[in-house]
Amino acid sequence: MSTGSSILSPSDAGYAEAKFAFDLHDQKPAAISTPTTVAGVQEAVRWARERGLKIANQATGHVAVALPDLEDALLLKPAIGLEPVIDHAEGFARVGAGTRWRPVVEAAAANGMATMHGSSATVGVVGYHLGGGLSFYARQHGLACNMVRAMEVVTADGEVARIDRDNEPDLFWALRGGGGLFATVTAIEFDLLPFAEVYGGASFWPVETAEAALSTWLDWTRSAPESVTSTFRIVNLPPFESVPEPIRGKNLVVIDGAALDNGDGDAFTARLEGLGDPVISQWGPMPAPAVSTMHGDPEDPVPAIGNSTTIDEVGDELVEAFVEAAGGDSGCSLIAAELRQLGGALRRPDPEGGVANMIDGEFLAFGVGLAAEPGMKAKTEGDLDRLMEAVSPWEGGRQYYNFAVGGATCHDCYPEDDIEALKAIRREYDPEELYLAPLDL
Ligand SMILES: Cc1cc2nc3c(=O)[nH]c(=O)nc-3n(C[C@H](O)[C@H](O)[C@H](O)COP(=O)(O)OP(=O)(O)OC[C@H]3O[C@@H](n4cnc5c(N)ncnc54)[C@H](O)[C@@H]3O)c2cc1C
Repeated sequence: MSTGSSILSPSDAGYAEAKFAFDLHDQKPAAISTPTTVAGVQEAVRWARERGLKIANQATGHVAVALPDLEDALLLKPAIGLEPVIDHAEGFARVGAGTRWRPVVEAAAANGMATMHGSSATVGVVGYHLGGGLSFYARQHGLACNMVRAMEVVTADGEVARIDRDNEPDLFWALRGGGGLFATVTAIEFDLLPFAEVYGGASFWPVETAEAALSTWLDWTRSAPESVTSTFRIVNLPPFESVPEPIRGKNLVVIDGAALDNGDGDAFTARLEGLGDPVISQWGPMPAPAVSTMHGDPEDPVPAIGNSTTIDEVGDELVEAFVEAAGGDSGCSLIAAELRQLGGALRRPDPEGGVANMIDGEFLAFGVGLAAEPGMKAKTEGDLDRLMEAVSPWEGGRQYYNFAVGGATCHDCYPEDDIEALKAIRREYDPEELYLAPLDL
């Protein structure tokens, strides 16, 4: 039986296609393997180790740009069992490496359940959980990685292990937040949520509404119920046909979110009514899969770069600072300057969780922009710097792994004790430090 482990080198047909990344970063690995079986992953890992090559795990290449240089590395892209298995009776999903969120969200909904996906249905399920997992249900249910039951992995010595709270608990702890630096994950199992319909939606206003909208939203967040998780954004939407006509190519303010209680959802949207006429506003009960596309994240590959930080004890002065950096008169070109609402269950440590089991901050400030050519990249970097500078007075000190893409390391995300524990686990499972990941230790 084929293990699907053939190794492609730069001169092989198929190499150019296999190295493709969603963020369009031009990766130049020494070799590429796209195994379709666990045995194939084992072969690929041993092949790399025998040749003194590093290994970079990847699924979609959403953050390929953040990986170190791959000229001495094998790019390992497992695609194993891409049909998710939903165990309805036990309320969990089993998902193979390489699977994106969309098929999992749809399979869960077909069984009357929902998943802890993030704002994009094209993100890989394994990579998302390895960095925490911030969903639109997070303030009620915490980080997605707290709901992981088990993972199956191939370690740097080429051996297979099934890990959970009782088996290899240290590695299980490290992989829930420490990223792809410790092993290659071949499958993941996680709990599902017992509903298939959610109250959600979005409102868009002209950018001139930015100060009033941010002020109103900020005020609401101070006593918001945990059932609601929402975001505030100032956006420059692309002129693409996929963007609905009334908002296509426009500089707008957006508030979107999901509520796990219809009454809380109604009360939230009632607070937004005083903000004047929205360009578009649509809220109400929707099938759970619609939440995975509600944020309007790109469905097609795009050369984007971003930066983020967590902020805390935010005062009203944030409104002016944020709008000055990203509002209508700022000249900001970012696709989105965003504040994601944190708090609630997200802020309570889960003693059973991994290294990422909570986010210590009130909001995640995040910016993303285009970097298709050097001039555009320089402009985006400048705009990102200005946004980060604007929120810096409230910076919480820690970054959130999945959004920490601006040259951060694990040190920026976790306390020193946890870093020491992660290093010890790496020494045990990957003493030769074969694995490369976007955030090093
Ligand atoms: C448009 C967009 C929206 C996003 N929205 C959210 C959100 O709402 N909430 C949130 O929490 N995050 C969000 N993210 C961040 C996202 O979860 C992380 O970037 C995640 O790492 C992407 O995983 P991937 O597999 O798609 O990307 P890849 O670039 O393929 O992988 C990222 C990293 O994950 C690790 N990895 C992937 N597969 C494996 C494997 N099989 N074994 C071991 N390691 C592996 C590797 O270290 C790899 O470098 C978003 C990202 C984008 C681009």
